[in-house]
Amino acid sequence: MSNNSVSALVAIANGHWLNVLNGLGISVNGNKHQACPVCGGKDRFRFDDKDGRGTWFCNQCEPNSGDGLALVCNAFGVKPYQAACMVAPLVGLDMGNPIDAERVKRHQQRAAQQQLQSQQQQQKTREKAAQLAYSITRQYCIKATADNEYLQVKGVMPFGCLELNRPVTLPNRQSFKSDTLVIPVFNGSLITSLQFISADGQKTFLAGGQIKGGMFPLCSQIEATATIYIGEGFATCAAVAEDMPQARVICAFNAGGLVEIAKLVRRSRPQANIIMLADNDRSGAGEHYAKLAAIAANGCYIMPEVCA
Ligand SMILES: [Zn+2]
Repeated sequence: MSNNSVSALVAIANGHWLNVLNGLGISVNGNKHQACPVCGGKDRFRFDDKDGRGTWFCNQCEPNSGDGLALVCNAFGVKPYQAACMVAPLVGLDMGNPIDAERVKRHQQRAAQQQLQSQQQQQKTREKAAQLAYSITRQYCIKATADNEYLQVKGVMPFGCLELNRPVTLPNRQSFKSDTLVIPVFNGSLITSLQFISADGQKTFLAGGQIKGGMFPLCSQIEATATIYIGEGFATCAAVAEDMPQARVICAFNAGGLVEIAKLVRRSRPQANIIMLADNDRSGAGEHYAKLAAIAANGCYIMPEVCA
């Protein structure tokens, strides 16, 4: 099997990685946090299988993300060529024979079509969720006040976020009590999703909505040369905004969002002073992503007390 046929094998394995990996004894489940099949743990690993490429990431492994073939390399400590040889029989390839170019082409076409279909499907789902998000904010929300139970627990002000004015059950049966805090997820000026935070701190996103690239600014205006703090959770961001009234604070919702938002903000505010707020979580993920984001945006990061 030449290098050329390694890429042919990857094309043929596209869309089959869940079976292939499990067939090789590398235990992976669908798109949820789980133990890493390479380095263990409890929930550090996720198999997100983007575009059927068998993609995954792990907070511990090095490298910490890759495609299906890379996972086989990691799991068995082998090079891509050897990994491809292991995968070949599971996708019906005979390594002794050269790979049929027609067959590779058919697989590539099929994979491209599946990718297009899943993108279209996702787009539809996102549009529906955005409509639902908008109507929830219009029909079931009021401006949150400092009396909101979650805000009381955290001891922070609402900074323009919303709360439910009655209990709400969504079409997918997600249900939320009255007084649940509602943070709009903005992509540009569009609300693409909502984050619901219950009084006990339980956080849930509206199903199907676009979170990637989403943010909630805790101020109405961000000047070109402002000092801009970007953090994960709303309460942390609110605490920082209260401590430093001159600061501009943006909530990026989760660790993965930090990098994305940092880059976006840097693009629109080339002269701003960007400071990432690192969550002090036990896994170290908060600091890891804050550091990556600081590098990506040519800024720095701090780990404030409130981020514990
Ligand atoms: Zn791992």
